[in-house]
Amino acid sequence: MKDKIIPYGKQDITHEDINAVVNTLTSDFLTQGPKVKEFEDKFATYIGSKYAVAVNNATSGLHLSVLALGLKEGERVITTPITFAASANCVRFAGGEVWFADIDPNTYLLSIEKTKELIESKPKGFFKGIIPVDFAGLPVNLESFKDLAKEHNLWIIEDACHAPGGYFIDTKGNKQFCGNGKYADIGVFSFHPVKHIACGEGGMVTTNNEELYKRLSSLRTHGITKENMSENHGGWFYEMQELGFNYRLTDIQSALGITQLSKNDKRVEKRNEIAEKYKAAFEGRVKYQVLPNNCYNAHHLFVIEVDDRKGLYDFLLKHQIYSQIHYIPIHALPYYKKIGYKDANLSNSEKYYSRCISLPMYPTLKEDEQEYVISKVLEFVNE
Ligand SMILES: *Cc1c(COP(=O)(O)O)cnc(C)c1O
Repeated sequence: MKDKIIPYGKQDITHEDINAVVNTLTSDFLTQGPKVKEFEDKFATYIGSKYAVAVNNATSGLHLSVLALGLKEGERVITTPITFAASANCVRFAGGEVWFADIDPNTYLLSIEKTKELIESKPKGFFKGIIPVDFAGLPVNLESFKDLAKEHNLWIIEDACHAPGGYFIDTKGNKQFCGNGKYADIGVFSFHPVKHIACGEGGMVTTNNEELYKRLSSLRTHGITKENMSENHGGWFYEMQELGFNYRLTDIQSALGITQLSKNDKRVEKRNEIAEKYKAAFEGRVKYQVLPNNCYNAHHLFVIEVDDRKGLYDFLLKHQIYSQIHYIPIHALPYYKKIGYKDANLSNSEKYYSRCISLPMYPTLKEDEQEYVISKVLEFVNE
């Protein structure tokens, strides 16, 4: 094990993936061809949403989502501080204000109680939306968030970047896959190589709402539509109805996404096997992310908590294990501090951040590698 580096996450590219990309490279379309639509359709079917819009990354997807939902300058949105910065940045792109509610200390997800408290501490109409995150792959119970959102007339964007293939079971006993749009207006996924499905860069926005779907599609391509073509026009005709962007995914990336997607179920299963092994080894000795009942974790990450986090990080590094920290709370990042979020009451998030560390978690992690990681973690905490 000595000379081998074990990272915290790693993509798995097969010959099937490579062939799919090469075939696309020699086809008539490199971008905006048939592969994008095929990927969108397959992705929507996979998670069970009506519509899917492929984008060049999840950050663009989040940006389009807040715009499609009509977020205006100065309007306020709630999210969790324990996520990647893009979950909050999208609100800032539209000139909105980000408000943070604290996490649950055991699931590390945005706490519904804290969110409710925050909403109820302000006048009616103060907030416009909530962006819960399926952190580490653990599905947020969106059914409860939906009830809260309905009561206060808020929209929900589910940041499902960590969770394709994860689900929770709702009160009616139905499996609700992350991003399926049953209890959220929009879901957003990332195809960055550290996530489940690797496209190099890439993302997907999902929804069940036709209006939102049209808006997302239009904003992805400059705000352009061909809808109003009349008899006097030829194929050249288009109208730019609003100010949009070029946030398109290419056919090359979509071809890769399609073959990667087809392997996702197996890989999420493998991630869960790895998680079970970690849990069995750490039970009663090391705290790890709690899995609520009726949930299937897609396990983008496996997070534990220790007293001496920096110590463990350095110790693992010394033994060629490259762990990672997810995440520095967003409100503690210099940009957000500058605009005034440093004194928010987010003690669970801050305590979590001082203790958290993500261990290697990816489908090709070998048994002996995982055993090595476990032995090193236990060696450190037992010292
Ligand atoms: C990775 C990630 C993003 C951003 O994804 P990109 O595709 O890199 O833009 C957003 N939110 C979360 C929770 C993420 O992990």
